Amino acid sequence: MALDTILVKEITINSDTRDCGGCTVCCTVSRVPEFNKLENQDCVHQIEGKGCGIHTKRPMVCKKYFCEWAKGNAPEDFKPDKVGVMLERVTDDIMSFLIPPNRKTNWYNQKTEDYAQLLKSQGISVVTNTGKVLLAEGHDTEYVWEQIEKQARINRIID
Ligand code: SF4
Ligand code: SF4
Repeated sequence: MALDTILVKEITINSDTRDCGGCTVCCTVSRVPEFNKLENQDCVHQIEGKGCGIHTKRPMVCKKYFCEWAKGNAPEDFKPDKVGVMLERVTDDIMSFLIPPNRKTNWYNQKTEDYAQLLKSQGISVVTNTGKVLLAEGHDTEYVWEQIEKQARINRIID
């Protein structure tokens, strides 16, 4: 387990700067071990357009979680429930675009493409949970998937 990765995750816990409002995209795309909820399925407690039905009693993993938009690390107009994609940083040089599969939002458009290209120009590869990969210079798919697997293992240990 990489200690520096854990510390990065802990530091970001309290760095949320934006109000989630009624967004529940992370409730769909994220795993919640407490409920045996897998990625890409709605949580039994989420209320579409309103938030969490057990807000004050939600598990710690939910309380600790903030996507890149909520942390203020993505453009203001990239709020997940508006743009249809949630940004989550995998590593310093890989960003994931997570698209809730059961929503009809047309997430792939000029705005998201432009932002993915901007990240790529900054040396950050972009991967989506729909299978798209945009490789930054010096990256290959093997490197990117290795990092994603490694981070997933670390997150499971932390959870
Ligand atoms: S996806 Fe981001 S903005 Fe939406 S509820 Fe989760 S943390 Fe908040
Ligand atoms: S418990 Fe609440 S915050 Fe956690 S995933 Fe479910 S709806 Fe979202």
